[in-house]
Amino acid sequence: MPGFEIFGDEERIEVQDVLDTGILFRYGFDQARKGHWKAKTFEAELAKRVGAGYCLLCSSGTAALNIALASCGVGAGDEVIVPPFTFIATIEAVLNAGAVPVFAEIDDTLCLDPGAVEAVISPRTKAVLTVHMCGSMARIDEIRMLCDQKGLILIEDACQAVGGSFQGKSLGTFGRMGCFSFDAVKTITCGEGGGVVTNDKSLYLKADAYADHGHDHIGDDRGLEGHANLGMNFRISELNAAVGLAQLRKLDLMLEKQRSHKKAIKAALADIPGISFRKIPDKKGDSATFLSFFLPDASVTRKIAHDLGQAGVDGCFYWYENNWHYIRQWDHLKKLQTSARLAIQLLENCPDYQQLNLPQSDGIMSRTISMLIKLSWTEQELVQRIDKMTEVIKA
Ligand SMILES: *Cc1c(COP(=O)(O)O)cnc(C)c1O
Repeated sequence: MPGFEIFGDEERIEVQDVLDTGILFRYGFDQARKGHWKAKTFEAELAKRVGAGYCLLCSSGTAALNIALASCGVGAGDEVIVPPFTFIATIEAVLNAGAVPVFAEIDDTLCLDPGAVEAVISPRTKAVLTVHMCGSMARIDEIRMLCDQKGLILIEDACQAVGGSFQGKSLGTFGRMGCFSFDAVKTITCGEGGGVVTNDKSLYLKADAYADHGHDHIGDDRGLEGHANLGMNFRISELNAAVGLAQLRKLDLMLEKQRSHKKAIKAALADIPGISFRKIPDKKGDSATFLSFFLPDASVTRKIAHDLGQAGVDGCFYWYENNWHYIRQWDHLKKLQTSARLAIQLLENCPDYQQLNLPQSDGIMSRTISMLIKLSWTEQELVQRIDKMTEVIKA
C-alpha cells in the first residue's frame, strides 16, 4: 500500500532540485528558485489526475479536512454527519471547526449507509463528511443524491483513496470538496502532506487563503498581499511537495500492482466456506490498498485475526479492537477529552457520545478483518501468503 515501499531515484531527483536552490518555501522567491515550483506542479498534476478544476496542497490530510470544512462555511454549532469507522482525524477536524460530529451507521461497504445518514439528519445538519475507507468507495452516488435533495454540503474524506473512482469519476470529486492525505502510510506519501480538490473556484480561493493566514496571493510581494479573511498556517513545504510529485507520477503503477495482488488473494480465498467480502460499489474503481473480508461472528473473527498474526501473515487489522479507527475504543472522544475545552461543550445540546449505540456498525466491524496489500511482495511471497491464509481460515 504505502508509497514508501517504492521510494527511489525519482523522489531524490525532485528533492535535489529544491536543495540546489535552497528555496524550501512554496511561495515567492521567483528568481532564486530557478523555475522549480514543486507544490504548484504537484497541484496541477493532481488536479488533472483526479479530474478536478482546482487543487490546493497543504500540510496534512487533517489540515485538508480543516480547510474543507472552513471553506464550505461549516462552523460553530453545525452538525456534520460522519461514520464511526474512519481515522480519528475526521472527527477531530469537525470538532476543531466547532461543529458537532453526528455518527451514522456504516453498511457492508464499510462506509456510511445512505439510509442511516438520512435517519440522523436534523434541522441543524449542515454537511455530510463521508469517508472512503481502506481504499474503496462509499455508495457515493446515493449519498450525493441525498445531500442534493436535503440541501446539505457533501465533503469527501478520500485520504485513503487517492486513485480510486466510482463509475469512472475520481473519489474526492463528488462532493463540494475532497480531501487527500500523503502521510507516511498512505498510497502516495511525502512524509507529511495533504490536498483538497474542488471544481468551485470560489471555494478554492477560500481554501488557498485559509491555509495561509488569509493571504490572497495576489501580486509578488507577500508583505503587500490582502487579507479578506482570517486563516491558519496549513502550508506544505517544497521539500514535501517534491517527494509527493515523484510519488504521484508512480500512482498508476502502484494501483496496478495493488489490484493484481488483491485479485490473486481474493480469488484464492473466495471458496472458503464462511468467508465473504466487503461490498465495493464499483470494483473497477477500487484502489485496492486493502482486502477486507467478513467472517461468521465476532469470536471466530477475533481468533482468525490472532492466528493470522501468529502464522506470520502480517498487516491484518481487526479494526473492532483497534484504538484509532473505530469508535468503540475512542474513550477520549466519548468523554470529549482534549487539552483545551472544546466549543461543542458549550452547546446546550452537546451530544453524550457515551450513550451512543451503533449496533449495525458493531455487527459489521466485529466480523471484519482488513489486510494491507503491499506493493513489494514477490510472486513467491504472494503464494506463501495465500497458502498460510487458507490454512488459518480453514482451520
Ligand atoms: C490518514 C487519514 C487522515 C489524516 O491524514 P494525515 O495526513 O495523517 O493528517 C484523515 N482521514 C483518514 C480516513 C485517514 O486515513
